[in-house]
Amino acid sequence: METGKNIQRIAKILYWLILGIGLLAGIVAFVLLGKFLSGTAWILLGFCALLLCVALSFPIAWIVECLFSGFGEMVENTAVIRDTVAPDYVPFAEQRRKEAQPRPAPDPQRRPEPKPAPAEPPKPAPAQNVAVRCPNCGAEQAEGRKSCWNCGAKLPEA
Ligand SMILES: [Zn+2]
Repeated sequence: METGKNIQRIAKILYWLILGIGLLAGIVAFVLLGKFLSGTAWILLGFCALLLCVALSFPIAWIVECLFSGFGEMVENTAVIRDTVAPDYVPFAEQRRKEAQPRPAPDPQRRPEPKPAPAEPPKPAPAQNVAVRCPNCGAEQAEGRKSCWNCGAKLPEA
């Protein structure tokens, strides 16, 4: 199942993204403080603000990554369990989709499913059933006749 792996990849990306945002926020704070302060006070306070932002982004990034990778792992484990317990399982959404469009567009990445073997041609009916005999006189009757050509008696439906 690819979903779990994708979620874990997203978790890694999010981790670095949050660290980047923390660094960016720190720089922005540093620049903004320059508007109110100047000299050593600005450098000191600005540097503290930058450090604080970067320091805060680490635990936040870590928590988000943990949540996401934990979720990804859960999804993947669920998929493994499902494949083990019910190999024929089709997600409900997919079932609905298949019902909605009976002829899906051919997926180039998917191999064409083997077509079912053509049905065997119907065996010819045994010869004795073809000819209908009149129950009255015993004359052979053509197919589809309702009364005997010889004596006119009603014929049983074939
Ligand atoms: Zn007859």
